[in-house]
Amino acid sequence: MNDHRKLGRELDLFDTDPLMGSGLPYWLPDGAAIRHTLEEFIRGRERRAGYRHVYSPALGKRELYEISGHWAHYREDMFPPMELGSEQVVLRPSLCPHHALIFRSRPHSYRELPLRIAELGDMYRAELSGVLGGLSRVRAIRLNDAHVFCTPEQAADEAAAALELIREAHRALGVRPVRYRLSLPGGGGKYVADRALWERATALLTGVLERSGVPFEAVEGEAAFYGPKIDVQIADGAGRESTLSTVQVDFHQPERFGLHYTGPDGARHRPVMVHRSVIGSIERLVAHLIELYGGAFPAWLAPTQVVLLPVSEAELPQAARLRQRCLDLGLRAEVAGPEHGTLGARIRSARLAPYQAVVGAREAADGRVALRLRGGRRLDPLPAEEAWARIGALVAACSAELWPAGAGR
Ligand SMILES: [Zn+2]
Repeated sequence: MNDHRKLGRELDLFDTDPLMGSGLPYWLPDGAAIRHTLEEFIRGRERRAGYRHVYSPALGKRELYEISGHWAHYREDMFPPMELGSEQVVLRPSLCPHHALIFRSRPHSYRELPLRIAELGDMYRAELSGVLGGLSRVRAIRLNDAHVFCTPEQAADEAAAALELIREAHRALGVRPVRYRLSLPGGGGKYVADRALWERATALLTGVLERSGVPFEAVEGEAAFYGPKIDVQIADGAGRESTLSTVQVDFHQPERFGLHYTGPDGARHRPVMVHRSVIGSIERLVAHLIELYGGAFPAWLAPTQVVLLPVSEAELPQAARLRQRCLDLGLRAEVAGPEHGTLGARIRSARLAPYQAVVGAREAADGRVALRLRGGRRLDPLPAEEAWARIGALVAACSAELWPAGAGR
């Protein structure tokens, strides 16, 4: 069984330092390359789905979370406030309040709705140190988040579109959810008290799940404090479940923040907020992908996509030129020269890279490369430009394949 904490260290993806603190991992260059790729992947998918991206600060005044309801319902999971002059500022436990303020900062007509605001933003959770480990439970979280501000009539379609975006992203990533959960409130004072609000939002999400055709189960006690959620659950190698993606319908925060838009009748109307996360937190997703692939990532996610292997010192300059050409084309490439050992040893140590390109005297002379695909399959030498173009196309398509079917031997 793959443990992402062990692999993450062995593959130099991330680590922690007691001086930074537990639950506060840092990302090494190879891990950062994966993270950057995932962030660009989701931004691209969101742009195509009509989202616009913003940045907002990871801190806010305590008052902001009093308005949103986090202070009353979620304070135990938040870091304690910091005194700053006469103010108290808080590390944010979610992005929703900031996005509500961004919506509120400009007047909106019904013609602009649905307005989809997305952000890959940092948020913080005061997890107890006992549950921390690796990337799956952290105190500093990079969340793929978005809020759709829409009319009540648009909310079901927006939630359904978000669920579809989640399913498409999972397919591209190779993520297979273990179940879809309709998360409902439980007992206790954790939830805002407005029976009609819960019934309306629950009926809406139930309809979305039923229309999508995915099997789901309703679970009490797992809702957000402001509304029910669709949670898409993944499991690690030990069968421990966690939520990766989520869709929520919220009638509460628009009310708390006094959000409105001008309707066709010229009067003020209250929008609905659909909260959704397609790939969840980058930390949890990367932990899952490390375990899923055991470090042998699809080419588009691999930290190093092409390893150039000059047979001897004589081919080093050609290998360096080929590497630069790969970098210019946007491919992540490294040279593993003879100073790293015999060709056999270098091939073994680069075994997780999707592509190895051996550069011998003959290839150096005629501008060809002899590609070895991860797993050992060897292709006939082909012009370097053709190799990079084929790899580039597979990477751009987020393909799970290392080589087009039927191309080359
Ligand atoms: Zn939210």
